[in-house]
Amino acid sequence: MTDPDLIYETIILGSGPAGLTAAIYAARSRCCPLIIHGRQPGGQLTTTTAVDNYPGFPEGIDGPDLMENMRLQAERFGTQFVEGEVTKVDLQERPFRIWLGEDLYRCLSLVIATGASPKLLNLGNEESLYGRGVSVCATCDGFFYRDREVVVVGGGDTAMEEAVFLTRFAKKVTVVHRRDSLRATPVLADRALSNKAINFKWNSEVVEIVADASGVTGIRTRNLNTAEETELTCDGVFIAIGHQPNTALFADQLERSDDGYILTNNGTETNISGVFAAGDVQDMQFRQAVTAAGTGCMAAIQAERFLDDLPYDPNLSCQKGICKLKG
Ligand code: NAP
Repeated sequence: MTDPDLIYETIILGSGPAGLTAAIYAARSRCCPLIIHGRQPGGQLTTTTAVDNYPGFPEGIDGPDLMENMRLQAERFGTQFVEGEVTKVDLQERPFRIWLGEDLYRCLSLVIATGASPKLLNLGNEESLYGRGVSVCATCDGFFYRDREVVVVGGGDTAMEEAVFLTRFAKKVTVVHRRDSLRATPVLADRALSNKAINFKWNSEVVEIVADASGVTGIRTRNLNTAEETELTCDGVFIAIGHQPNTALFADQLERSDDGYILTNNGTETNISGVFAAGDVQDMQFRQAVTAAGTGCMAAIQAERFLDDLPYDPNLSCQKGICKLKG
């Protein structure tokens, strides 16, 4: 059971690069924020192997190691961690209230860094093949496919960008798209269509990712017009069919885009003062670890300014980032 009199100055939801960076900054300035994270601490980066584009690691660093380092850094300055699934939030009253089942947590400021989840094809083995041929991030994993054959699934901007990016490494790139025209904006579509290194398999869906013990060996596709099935040999499958921001919990309380991303102004401010959003939950464009960390830093600084500006509350006694009701 949680202490009903306890009110955190800052609670952070999510422990990816945005949440942990917010924690490092919040902990160093006022001390002891609480991070509430789900069953995949560290977020999406824990599903990638080497991260070569995070500054400061000239030899690259494994995604899980990078996240563990961030966690240790946040812990070093007093961040507390609770694992559990947030089942309900109430941002209409202050302090804000967050429930993990029966357990209630309250806070004066909230940083939402719950990230986004890549949409998957729901073929059953995709997640188990992460790091062994299935990827949802060409920028992260493309380098490992030098002189190999890869498939990109999707027809949007991300798929086109990833396909073009992958031609730098792979000897063959095939885009599998379920229609005969691309959703991507013309400039990105033209760039991919005019790239001689990219083949297109139109009107096709992936019905199976074929793998052996060492990883992906190919895919089976079905032509949606003829129902004909074809096998295609490949070493990697990049799934680029969009992301789903993890914002369902806030649907009725925070302003979101049509795609569900939390709308922010002036950095990371949401439509409720004292509630900030950082990382992929509010960024549909860049979605990089370093940009998530950057907005996490911004959210912590903005939360601190918000706390500094709060009027003095004679009923609260606060120490090291945690307040208690006097009384
Ligand atoms: P998206 O625009 O939603 O495109 C997703 C693509 O995947 C579509 O072609 C869709 O097919 C296909 N798809 C969806 N579900 C599928 C399924 N179950 N099986 C097979 N195919 C499926 O997503 P996105 O490309 O990630 O882009 C998201 C947003 O970010 C967009 O607003 C985009 O403009 C933006 N973005 C911008 C840039 C840039 O400006 N440089 C780069 C990347 C992303 P259909 O076409 O048939 O629906």
